Amino acid sequence: MSSPTASTHPDETAHQEPVVAALRAMVRVPTVSLRSPDVADPALVAELHRVMAAHFPLLHARLERVEVPGSPGALLFRWPGRSAERPVVLMAHQDVVPAGEDWTGDPFEARLEAGTLWGRGVLDDKGSVAAVCQAVEDLLAAGHTPAQDVWLSFGHEEEVSGEAAAHAAAELERRGVAPWLVLDEGGAVGTEVFPGVAVPVAFIGVAEKGTTSLHLTASGGGGHASTPARGGATARLARAVLALEKHPLPARLGDVTVEMFRRLAPHATGPIGAVLARVDRARPVAARALAAMGGEAAALVRTTTVTTTLAGSPALNVVATRATAGVNARIAPGESVADLLAHVRRTVGEGIEVEVVEHGEPTPLSPWDDEAFALLEAGVREVFPDAVPTPYVVLAATDGRFFTGLCPRVYRFAPFRMSATQRASIHGPDEHLHVADLLDGVRFYRRLLEELPA
Ligand SMILES: [Zn+2]
Repeated sequence: MSSPTASTHPDETAHQEPVVAALRAMVRVPTVSLRSPDVADPALVAELHRVMAAHFPLLHARLERVEVPGSPGALLFRWPGRSAERPVVLMAHQDVVPAGEDWTGDPFEARLEAGTLWGRGVLDDKGSVAAVCQAVEDLLAAGHTPAQDVWLSFGHEEEVSGEAAAHAAAELERRGVAPWLVLDEGGAVGTEVFPGVAVPVAFIGVAEKGTTSLHLTASGGGGHASTPARGGATARLARAVLALEKHPLPARLGDVTVEMFRRLAPHATGPIGAVLARVDRARPVAARALAAMGGEAAALVRTTTVTTTLAGSPALNVVATRATAGVNARIAPGESVADLLAHVRRTVGEGIEVEVVEHGEPTPLSPWDDEAFALLEAGVREVFPDAVPTPYVVLAATDGRFFTGLCPRVYRFAPFRMSATQRASIHGPDEHLHVADLLDGVRFYRRLLEELPA
């Protein structure tokens, strides 16, 4: 950010940035996705499209808008390049999660205060939509033609695992478009990530865990609550739930995580640097140590399971004849739904029915020793010179997974600096983005578009 002069308040300078005005207007349209009853209100999605058209007039005039069959709310644009041989897809999503409680101000007011923008979606993921569009708008204004065809794909059902991105991928496939590079949200330039690593880390996702949900059901028993029998459905289900928590899937250190630690090692201070540098030769020990740390560290090294829902009898004085637990699992790359099912069946034992409710395999790995990844790294080095770029496995799901069948190089990275507090504000209260970081995001996308290989 250029330092404000004595006579200009930082917010006044920020107000004049077109991308700031665009993002604020976009945040004010609450395209909230709800699992129930439905996805974001189509009228609000249409309103968001009007706001975007007003703020990015060149983009809307010069790029071809391609309808996405089955998903009228999805935005798909084609910017013809000098070549169509190695097309690039830039992705982000238009919808946001509900604001929830505990916000300091109105989550949809898009308050700008002391160089910071507050509002639902500024990080996840309207900030990326705005930054991508502004980069394209700026380049169009400068008369730039990209070296390759550039596609912009903005789904509107990401937060509810909707079909919009899958439909967009299907449309590209139908048109014979085989992307060379796909870039979606996922990682960011994180500060304060690992204890002992003082530098910012640019996490570029090269894979995603798979999301799979199961129902565990115990049946039988019943009768009157005044004369209960032992070993009823609820008690057997409770034992199964506890067994699953007590016996997690084995911890393993995959190649991506080893590469991440190898890159971080030179930047770690104290004994942790030496440990990180040797991780590859001591994978089982390191995996167990990370698993013991719990939280994100543990999630990096294993397929996780957690019981999320529980249901028994509908009345306090009725004994359940069926008790069901919902289990949400995140499957690590290299493992599968079949591995998960085998582990769960073995762990909960006989008499518990295991049913797959939602089936999601982990994605394949995108390469990190490759020209496309190097292009992203070069962008990081230019725009975030203090950050260390590294591949990593995205723990959550992104729309990018729908493109892995179409493109071997799907990367997940939003080019914004995010502190620990900011990362916690994604899906939480007081989501915020510094204007200087939004402008860096625009620079990153602009540079990426300018440097596409011929
Ligand atoms: Zn998102």
